[in-house]
Amino acid sequence: MSDRVKIRIENATKVFNVYKRDAGTESTRPLKASKMERMHLFAVKNVNLTVKRGEVVLVIGPSGSGKSTLLRCINRLERLTSGRICIDDLCVTDPKADIRKVREEVGMVFQSFNLFPHLTALRNIALAPIVVKGMVKEMAYEKARGLLKRVDLEDKENSHPAQLSGGQQQRVAIARALAMDPHIMLFDEPTSALDPEMIKEVLDVMLALAKEGMTMMVVSHEMGFAKAAAHRIIFMDEGEIIEEGPPDTIFNNAQQERTRRFLKHIL
Ligand code: ADP
Ligand code: MG
Repeated sequence: MSDRVKIRIENATKVFNVYKRDAGTESTRPLKASKMERMHLFAVKNVNLTVKRGEVVLVIGPSGSGKSTLLRCINRLERLTSGRICIDDLCVTDPKADIRKVREEVGMVFQSFNLFPHLTALRNIALAPIVVKGMVKEMAYEKARGLLKRVDLEDKENSHPAQLSGGQQQRVAIARALAMDPHIMLFDEPTSALDPEMIKEVLDVMLALAKEGMTMMVVSHEMGFAKAAAHRIIFMDEGEIIEEGPPDTIFNNAQQERTRRFLKHIL
């Protein structure tokens, strides 16, 4: 891991406006706007974090603690309400930031694979290089074949997503993200939708990426992966980073009561 900062997150805050019923209105009939109360929900609250080049940061925390929102703000699927996120010199929160450049820089893998159902594995992977980068088709397919090999699916290039297992689909999704040659990979609970016997094959691909020096932010509660690959664990609760440190320290010697309480559920 180099000392160079790759991702710099400064005072990041993301507020959603949510509408809640006034207390005391128990009607199940459609509510008038006047009966709805607008609330500011701080999904991410004043987060400061730097990630070094080649670092693997694991983000843990209860459901609703802002993990996905934080990742989504890094690749600009969401816009921060205030604060700043920069990748090298590219500040993704700058209103003038080139979103295409951001998406080239940052690959993302979701819990629910999100492959295009009507395209083969090969075409799923080759699509973005062709459409976004203007790569010549045959070159994009060659590259996609190389990526399929890397995720151990070289015999599946003509399979459609429905013909693949969950673990295979997720590996195609990883290959698809890698097709843009990103410098950063974000993983949002990549194994949560998988049957237990398929989790390892996906984690193995992620572990190999980590070993190759990819800068990664991973939301996951897979402790085996945490111990094998993570340089740092971030614990989030209610939109805030409560505690961070090396895996060994966080798992065995967490300083905050909230962290310890959460870890009891997952360890
Ligand atoms: P996590 O990934 O840790 O489970 P999320 O980042 O998905 O948490 O959500 C953080 C909070 O923001 C939750 O309270 C969630 O309901 C809320 N939230 C997330 N996305 C939206 C949205 N698009 N609109 C309104 N509220 C949202
Ligand atoms: Mg989430």
